[in-house]
Amino acid sequence: MNKIAIMGAMPEEIAPLLEYFKDIKATKYASNVYYETSYNNINIVIAYSKIGKVFSALTTTILIEKFKCDIVLFSGVAGAINKNLKIGDIVVATKTAQHDLDITSFGHEIGFVPEGSKFINMNKKLINIAIDVAKTNNISLKKAIVATGDQFVAHENRKKFIFDNFQADAIEMEGASVAVVCHSLNIPLLIIRSISDTADTDAGFDFDKFLDSSANISAKLMITIVAYISKNIKKLN
Ligand code: SAH
Repeated sequence: MNKIAIMGAMPEEIAPLLEYFKDIKATKYASNVYYETSYNNINIVIAYSKIGKVFSALTTTILIEKFKCDIVLFSGVAGAINKNLKIGDIVVATKTAQHDLDITSFGHEIGFVPEGSKFINMNKKLINIAIDVAKTNNISLKKAIVATGDQFVAHENRKKFIFDNFQADAIEMEGASVAVVCHSLNIPLLIIRSISDTADTDAGFDFDKFLDSSANISAKLMITIVAYISKNIKKLN
């Protein structure tokens, strides 16, 4: 039986999900709260991890190992690097990388550590489902390379560095770490993010202004995707 994890990083990113799903049971574990519910006979566990790579890796691991989720969906906000992405646009991650993982002193590529890989590809079936669901609902969902790091990027120079080294379209602080856990445990992962800022000097201001609306845009699409998955779970197995 499938069990779906739906994650965000911040309370604002999962608030629309907690509002939508009914009969939620909250469980405290490892300094966090996990919200269990069910929908169309599919069990769901919702949690926000707190910001950054370490917290998001911890939460993902707990969702998989303790709560036995076998699909992970991430919904949240991101900064745009690609100039064609505007605030409120939605992206689906095709692959993720850690832009702040740097042992280049030893001749390695930025983002690479031995026995790891610079990029982790996202699950193709889930990407295609997300694209189909978006299309059916007249939502423009763009494919994006997502770069993750433990820093809020608000500067042109850092944007350029991340683009030059990763060809990233969007940046955030959790996707690649969630991906490392899912990839290691062989769990399909889908990351949907709506743009909250363009990672420039106005990013902090824009983020505060658009966090709720962009988190909502992403969560709304994610709910539609969950509805589709719950009715077509066989396509994933
Ligand atoms: N205002 C918050 C901090 C937000 S950090 C506070 O004070 O508590 C930004 C969050 O949104 C992270 O979870 C990250 O994944 C995402 N994000 C959005 N825009 C980003 C950007 N420009 N750079 C990095 N992460 C960004």
